[in-house]
Amino acid sequence: MIRNFKLMAALSPMVAAAGVAGAMMIAPATPASSQSLGNILGSAKKVAEAASVTDEQIVAYFGQMSDEMDRQNPLAPAKNPYAVRLAKLTQGLDTYDGLKLDIKAYLVDDVNAFAMGDGTVRVYSGLMDKMTDDEVRCVIGHEIGHVKLEHGQKRMKRALQQDAALSVAGTASGGVRRLANSELGGLLQNVLYAQHSQAAETQSDDYALGFMAAKGYNREACATAMDKLAAMGGGGGIGLLQTHPNPAARAKRMRKQIG
Ligand SMILES: [Zn+2]
Repeated sequence: MIRNFKLMAALSPMVAAAGVAGAMMIAPATPASSQSLGNILGSAKKVAEAASVTDEQIVAYFGQMSDEMDRQNPLAPAKNPYAVRLAKLTQGLDTYDGLKLDIKAYLVDDVNAFAMGDGTVRVYSGLMDKMTDDEVRCVIGHEIGHVKLEHGQKRMKRALQQDAALSVAGTASGGVRRLANSELGGLLQNVLYAQHSQAAETQSDDYALGFMAAKGYNREACATAMDKLAAMGGGGGIGLLQTHPNPAARAKRMRKQIG
């Protein structure tokens, strides 16, 4: 994962540039006199094209991102102890809340996990080492929440809208194409590694508590999982703590929710 983050860091200037271009494109405050008519028309066209990004394209691009993550990280083979434990603790979770899930472990010593908009869920062995079965389940429930509440999908749509090459390529054929590695890297940075808003995190925490209750798991595990993240603290750059700050506050809030 550390290796991946170096790759992401290398790509981020490009991503940042794309983000700035996207912001400028839609900024109403930009004086018209500073733009050529061609630019204005081009921008309008780009927005129109971006609006036609389809759900099919979004799911397909999530699929490509999942494949890329699986290519970059070692999946635990079926008989590996991490895979065996994860399969056991997620028994009956092939589907949940209308989502088809594919839950697997990475043999990577980071405290991390993610879910992708195509239902891919990956849990890192480093997180499994630190957490009980129910704590792992709560993290998974939280990640499923991000998918079900379409936080990643919205972000993906925005990323496609802000990247002319992606939006044009996606819509020119009305279908889906194989994204280049640099494009996948940019999407991973913008969609997977970037922080969600605090509102989105709170919604996903509540979703996780509902998930735990619905499945008959122990909801208190959500709070103790946050306690553990808080104890790791220090703002170390990698993993869940990077994308999910303030675990102590989240633990407190979850305990209040549980009552
Ligand atoms: Zn989250």
